Amino acid sequence: MRLALLIHTALSIFSLHLNAAEKLKILIVDGQNNHKWDITTPVLVNALESSDAFVVSVSTSPAKGSPAEAWKDWHPDFSAYAAVMSNYNGEPWPEAVRASFDAYMKSGGGFVSVHAANNSFPQWKEYNQMIGVGGWGGRNEASGPWLYVKEGKLFRDTSAGSGGAHGPQHEFVVEINDAEHPITRGLPNRWLHAKDELYSRLRGPAENVKILASAMSDLTSVYEPNMMVLEYGKGRVFHTTLGHADYSMLDRGFYETLQRGTEWAATGDTALTGALPADFPSADKVSVISLLGHPKQTPPAPKK
Ligand code: ZN
Repeated sequence: MRLALLIHTALSIFSLHLNAAEKLKILIVDGQNNHKWDITTPVLVNALESSDAFVVSVSTSPAKGSPAEAWKDWHPDFSAYAAVMSNYNGEPWPEAVRASFDAYMKSGGGFVSVHAANNSFPQWKEYNQMIGVGGWGGRNEASGPWLYVKEGKLFRDTSAGSGGAHGPQHEFVVEINDAEHPITRGLPNRWLHAKDELYSRLRGPAENVKILASAMSDLTSVYEPNMMVLEYGKGRVFHTTLGHADYSMLDRGFYETLQRGTEWAATGDTALTGALPADFPSADKVSVISLLGHPKQTPPAPKK
């Protein structure tokens, strides 16, 4: 009996097979983006569902320039999900949708902001509190300080300047700043990430934010945040600046941290996704994930 129990426990640790009803329900919102959301959303779905911990639905907003009439039919039921992930960077959502998302977060919802989702909604105060910092869209010192890490310390730079910048895409080393958090616990301290934009000079209210990982920017010569966690009311936010294109996402480092970040945003822990995968990248080698039909986007050639 005791042996059987031990075997059962070992099996439940090493193989995750949840019934559909036990999986965390996640909603991805897309529909407008200056990035190829129609190509990257399926990669995000795969990144989550391949862990077996999540079941993912997608809500696609009306296209850019749609008449107000089209928006009346778009009202995602955020409260039906353990966490919401944004692959959206576009026109402001209708007031009712914004209010319902804000209420969902204040009452304990989970939110995951991926790459250009932090370009969205420069004028929406509550959204900027949720993501902490963002880029472009007219963001400047009035949006809040530039948040970065230098010599292991967190800086909030209030000097004047625009928010949001990046150099040419390249592979870069992600360095862990907080090794105790459930999202980063047990990961190598430094690991090489696939070709991506290294978001820099992000600005915002930067309140209730913890930087989990950052990378040295050639542009600013400081460590720019790649992964952050925030509290918003009773809600939890995981903010990753990584993920410009499908080839940036098809990386075991991105997959693993997105899974953990999403589970943490949903539950406050990483019990289902926290095991370290054998193919996690090292400091000098990217761990590429092959997914049928991807990558469809062609990375730019290195500058000579
Ligand atoms: Zn980008």
